[in-house]
Amino acid sequence: MKLDVPYIEAKFQEFNSLMFDNALPPVPVALSKASSYVGLCTFKTRRHLFGKVEYYDFRLRFSTRLDLPEAEVEDTIIHEMIHYYIRLNRIKDTSAHGKVFRQMMNELNSRFGRHITISHRTTKEQREAALDKRPRQRVVAIVRFKDGREGLKLMPCKQDKVAAYRRALMRSGQVADISFWVESDPWFNRFPTSSAFNVIFAPMEEVRAHLSKTKHPASLDAGCLQF
Ligand SMILES: [Zn+2]
Repeated sequence: MKLDVPYIEAKFQEFNSLMFDNALPPVPVALSKASSYVGLCTFKTRRHLFGKVEYYDFRLRFSTRLDLPEAEVEDTIIHEMIHYYIRLNRIKDTSAHGKVFRQMMNELNSRFGRHITISHRTTKEQREAALDKRPRQRVVAIVRFKDGREGLKLMPCKQDKVAAYRRALMRSGQVADISFWVESDPWFNRFPTSSAFNVIFAPMEEVRAHLSKTKHPASLDAGCLQF
């Protein structure tokens, strides 16, 4: 659906009375085309003498980049209203989507049949918090191009797919070499896993820090990829 400010303001009023006891003062709404968030609750911080912190200049921001179904838009608005509520009342939480946030989210979900999640991530910290933490084994290829660029690729642990990937990339003539690791560190869950012949460009220093010490044996035909 197409988002506009009057719609969001009307929804804010509706949910404020239905879910927040009208405890939330009106707040400016801003739209953007950002790709880094769907919704965002921003504010400024002022530190007074003796360390008292004040939050002010609240704003709810929404990106119009994604065309979301209405129910998801509503859930996003409520999500940001929870942030607003917590910050406004200076409630201490364990993290951006910590214990208090989740408690309120779960309560609204069950009382009003909503599907609010923490996955409409907004900040880097929130994206990390929303990441899947389960260890999953996959092949990580580190691709070094002849022009010096480096990238990575995550593939399922399937020998034929990995071999096909290596063949296709080497045939392109642009690749200097590819090395393979078998990794189950959940840190890699932030990247998509597929058998497509593409390369992901990411901060390689960080990537390397998460690679295990043992490189996958160069010979993929040795049957090392049996899982
Ligand atoms: Zn959030």
